[in-house]
Amino acid sequence: MLPVEEALAAVLSAAAGHATPRDVPLHDALGLVLAEDVCAPDPLPPFRASIKDGYAVVASDGPGEYPVITESRAGNDALGVVVRPGTVAYITTGGPIPDGADAVVQVEDTEQVPAAADGSKRVRILARAAEGQDIRNVGCDIEKDSIVLKSGEHIGPAEIGLLATVGVTTVKVYPRPTIAVFSTGDELVQPATATLCRGQIRDSNRAMLLAAAVQQRCKVVDLGIAEDTEESIKEHMDAALHSDADIILTSGGVSMGDRDLVKPCLSKMGKIHFEKIQMKPGKPLTFAEITTQDSSKPSQTVLAFGLPGNPVSCMVCFNVFVVPAIRLLSGWSNPHLRRVHVRLSHPLRADPHRTEFHRAVIRWVLNDGSGRPGYVAESTGHQASSRLLSMKSANALLEVPSAGQILAAGTSIQAIVISDIISSPSNELPPTSNPLPSQFSPSAKSVSTDVPQVATSQDAEVKVAILTVSDTVSSGAGPDRSGPRAVSVVNSSSEKLGGATVVATAVVPDEVDKIKGILVQWSDIDCVNLILTLGGTGFTPRDVTPEATKSVIEKEAPGLTFVMLQESLKITPFAMLSRATAGIRGSTLIINMPGNPNAVAECMEALLPALKHALKQIKGDKREKHPRHLPHSQAAPVDQWERSFRAASIGKGCSCEP
Ligand code: AMP
Ligand code: MG
Repeated sequence: MLPVEEALAAVLSAAAGHATPRDVPLHDALGLVLAEDVCAPDPLPPFRASIKDGYAVVASDGPGEYPVITESRAGNDALGVVVRPGTVAYITTGGPIPDGADAVVQVEDTEQVPAAADGSKRVRILARAAEGQDIRNVGCDIEKDSIVLKSGEHIGPAEIGLLATVGVTTVKVYPRPTIAVFSTGDELVQPATATLCRGQIRDSNRAMLLAAAVQQRCKVVDLGIAEDTEESIKEHMDAALHSDADIILTSGGVSMGDRDLVKPCLSKMGKIHFEKIQMKPGKPLTFAEITTQDSSKPSQTVLAFGLPGNPVSCMVCFNVFVVPAIRLLSGWSNPHLRRVHVRLSHPLRADPHRTEFHRAVIRWVLNDGSGRPGYVAESTGHQASSRLLSMKSANALLEVPSAGQILAAGTSIQAIVISDIISSPSNELPPTSNPLPSQFSPSAKSVSTDVPQVATSQDAEVKVAILTVSDTVSSGAGPDRSGPRAVSVVNSSSEKLGGATVVATAVVPDEVDKIKGILVQWSDIDCVNLILTLGGTGFTPRDVTPEATKSVIEKEAPGLTFVMLQESLKITPFAMLSRATAGIRGSTLIINMPGNPNAVAECMEALLPALKHALKQIKGDKREKHPRHLPHSQAAPVDQWERSFRAASIGKGCSCEP
C-alpha cells in the first residue's frame, strides 16, 4: 500500500505538463489561470482626473471669490478651456482637469455665491489648496506598458476588471479539463428507478462525481453505467477516450472481488501507477495513464482514476487526488487543497495502520477552547465508507495520522478544506469554549462509532475524565501528548478499572482557577468517578496543579501518590520532585499525574491493582471491603502495595523491596 503523499506525488507528476493554453473570450475567463503576461497599452488615468467633486483652481490664487469659467464633468467636457489665474472651473469626480488648473478644492470647502447680473457663475473658495491636491495624474494607477497581470495568476472578478481596463477581450488561459465519468456495477440502476429489485441500488456515484467535476468548473461527459464484464468496461473506457476527456473517472470494480475488473482493464489499456493506498477510506483507489492510439488524431495521454465504489471512499478520493490533478491541468502552480489547523471538539480514535480522512464540519470561532480564535471541528458522525450521510455537509477532511491512539478533545489537527467554511452565529459558543467538552453535550452522540466508549459515555460504569494542565498545549504552542496517551492507557485498562470509559478530556493552562473550575464541574455536576490531571506537579513557579487539587478535595489519598512516586523513582530520580496529590471530592477520585506521556502509563500501572476497589468504595459499594476480595490473580500486587505502604507509613521505607 502506497502512503497518501507518495500516491498524490505520482498523480501530480503524471498531470504535470499537461496543461495546454487556449484563447477564450474575457467573459469565459473567470476562475481560470492566465497563460500569458498582460500589459497596459495606455496609462490609467489617461488624463489628469479629479478625485473630488469641487473646483479646479490655480493653487497659488488661494481663498477668494472667482468666476466659474467652465464645467468639467466626467467625460469630454471643457475641452480647450484654460483655467487662468483668477478663474476656476466646476469639476466632478473623474472629470478631466482643464489646462492651467493645478489643484482641486472640494465642494465642502466652497460657498455658493449669487450669479452676476450677466448670469455668469461665481464661487467663493474657502480653503487654500496645495499644488496637485485631489488630482490623479496620468498613469498614477496603471503606467503605460506596465505588466498588470502575470502568467499563472488566477482570474477573479478584479482581474476581469483589470483585463477590461487594459482592453483585453480575448485572453490566453489554461482551460479546465474535460472529465468523463462512468459507474461500474451489475447492481446499479438509474436514479430514476422507482422500485428496486432484489440486489439493486441506485447509482449515486455518477451523479455525485459529475456534480463534483462541474463544481471544479470542468466540462463533463456522462457515460452511464458499465456492467461488471471486461467487454462492457472496455467499451466504456474506449468511449471515454473518444470523448476527448483529459481525465476518466470510474467508480466501483477496484476491490478484491472476482467481478472487480477495472484494474485489469486499466492495466491492459495503459500504465497503472498505483492500486492500493494507505488511506481510510479509499484503500483500493487505482490510478493509471492511458495514451490514446487513434491514428486519425495526435496521441493524447489521459489520466484514469479507478475510484472505489463505496460512495464516501469515492468522494474522499476525488477530493484528495482528483481535485489536485484538475488544478494542475488547469495551470495552478500550487494544486494542493487548503489546509488549516483545527481543534477537535470531541475525542477521535486514529486508525492504527492508515491515515484517516475523517469527515467533519469545521467552523471559525472566537474561542476555539484555547481562549483564542480558531477553527473547531465536529465529526459528521458514523464514518462508514458506504454512509454518504457522513460526507453530507462536511466542509473538511480531518487528516488523522495512523497512530492508533485516541486523540483527546481539544487536540490540534490538520484539516483539508473541501468546501465553504460557515462561521458560527455570533451567539453560538463553540463546544470547546465551555470547560465541559462536547461529549457531554447532545451533539456528542454524533461522535464516530469508531469510538464507542465515547458515544456511550453516559452509561459508563466508571466515568473517567482527563485534564491536561499545560500552558504550552493550552496556548496551542505544542501538541497534547499526555492526554491522548492517558486516554489510551485508561481504555486499555478499562476492564481492570471496572468498565472505565473516558467521558471527557480538556486542556487548561497552569492556572489554579481554571484547574479548580473544571475539577469542580467534573466532580459535582458531571459526577465523573475518576479524574486524572496530567502535568503541573513539579517545582517551577507555574506548577500549581497540586494546589488547585488540594483546594477542591475533601479527603486526601496519600497512598496513591506514594505508589506512583515509588514506581516513578524506579525510572528517574527526578520523580522525587513530584508534588502530586490525590484525594476524594464527593464521589470523585482526583489523582495528579506527571505531564510526561510515559509517566502516565507507569503511574496507571502502579495504581491499577487498587483503583477498581477504590472507585467502588467511593461509590459506597459495601461489598468492596478489602482488596483480598479481588480475584486471586490480582491479589499479589495488592499485598505488595499494602506491605509497601505499611512499611512506608511506619517510616521504614521499602521502595527497594522486590
Ligand atoms: P465495488 O468496489 O464495486 O465492490 O463496490 C463497493 C460498494 O460500493 C458496493 O457496496 C457497491 O454496491 C457500492 N457501489 C459501487 N458503485 C456504486 C455507485 N455508483 N453508487 C452507489 N454505490 C455504489
Ligand atoms: Mg462493483
